[in-house]
Order: sequence, then C-alpha cells, then structure tokens
Amino acid sequence: MNGPETHFSFAPELHLFVAAEHSVAHTPVVTDGSSTLGHVVESLGVPLTEVGRLVVDGAEVSVSHIPRAGENIEVYAIERPQRIPGAPLRFLLDVHLGTLARRLRLLGVDAAYTNEDPGDAALAALSAKERRVLLSRDRGLLRRREIWAGGFVYSDRPDDQLRDVLGRFAPTLAPWTRCTACNGPLADADKDSVRGHLQHGTQRTYDVFAQCTACGRVYWRGAHHARLEAIVEQALRDSAT
Ligand SMILES: [Zn+2]
Repeated sequence: MNGPETHFSFAPELHLFVAAEHSVAHTPVVTDGSSTLGHVVESLGVPLTEVGRLVVDGAEVSVSHIPRAGENIEVYAIERPQRIPGAPLRFLLDVHLGTLARRLRLLGVDAAYTNEDPGDAALAALSAKERRVLLSRDRGLLRRREIWAGGFVYSDRPDDQLRDVLGRFAPTLAPWTRCTACNGPLADADKDSVRGHLQHGTQRTYDVFAQCTACGRVYWRGAHHARLEAIVEQALRDSAT
C-alpha cells in the first residue's frame, strides 16, 4: 500500500494473530487512506471478535475510523468477562470443537454442535438466526460478516479451551441438566420409567438419574462419572474465583 503511515501497538494477547514485525509497539503500518480501522486491523490478521478498545492518539474510536498519517493507534484485546447483549447466552461450535461442546453441555451451557461440518456459510447463518456466539479456531470463519457474535478459541487442549470460554463469557453453570449427546434439556427419571432403555447389567449396577427430553438418552452414575465429576468440580471452582 502507498498511503499514510501510521503506528500500531497491539495488546500482547493479540500478538499471535499478527506478523512478528507487528508485535512490537509503535510498529509502522502504511494504509491505503480510505479503509476503515476495522478493515486494517483485520487485514493485519486480527479477528475483530478478539478486539476490545481502539484508541487513536489517546482517544477511543470506533472500527469505522479511517486512519490518517502520523496517528498512534492502540489495539486492545476484548475485555473479560465479555458481556454479550441479548439473553440467554448460547453458543455454536465449529466441527473441530466436539470435546469442548460436550463439556459445555455437561455444565448446562447451551452449546450447539454437529459432527458433520455444515460449512462456514451455514454456521455463520445459524449464529445469526439463533443469536449464538460462534466459537472457532478458524480466523476466516470469525471474519464472516453475518455472525451474531464470535470468539476465537485460543488453545487446542480441551481443558484450556473450557477455562478460556468460561472465563471469557462467564455463562451461568447448571451441571447435569443438559444432554451431552444432543444439547437437549434433561429431566429427572427413575429406573422404572426408563427400564426399556437399559441393558440388564446397567439395571442392576447403576442408579439412573436423568433422561434427555429431546433424544431420550438415559443418564446414570456409571463408569465415566468420576472423570466427569472432576471436570464439573474444576469448572465450578474456576468460576467462583
Ligand atoms: Zn439428548
């Protein structure tokens, strides 16, 4: 580009998105003189879903500001916890985040997800239609204009992903109230009413406690329960601090 030269300073949390030479403070950036600040920030690699305040020469501006020569531009990370307007807080996860989706559901957080990839356009449209926060590690997907709200998932490890999302959006937790398989709400159940769903060994060994009102799946305190209990306990501890 051959236009006004500005100086950008990106917050440390945003350095993973930008080229190495742009992660130093006051890095020179030549813009085209007509693009908005939002466009320039995106073109430098940072999804706007991750951007908080934009400050030009000490004054806060919006993404529609057009950078001019000599400006010092500071780009901050989104503030945590991030308040998403429009209750209730609901999520939509891309095809790579299945484990995170099941863990959010385990905690009672509404998390839509499908095993088959519906494609970026369909995911963005669903985010808009159902007002769901789209979670992804794909910057291209998060740049789509249609999405209602979005969040980049910073880690590829499910434990860190869960801590990241819970810390960022602070959803209300209601463990053991949602089906981890389909995201439907659970209802209390007793062994007699769901006997037809159980294998004989299960009937003898486990205490049934819930059934999904959407897919009919039955939940009992079984072999995986201790591991799931540990995930719930950790999430409740983290959210209390
Ligand atoms: Zn279900």
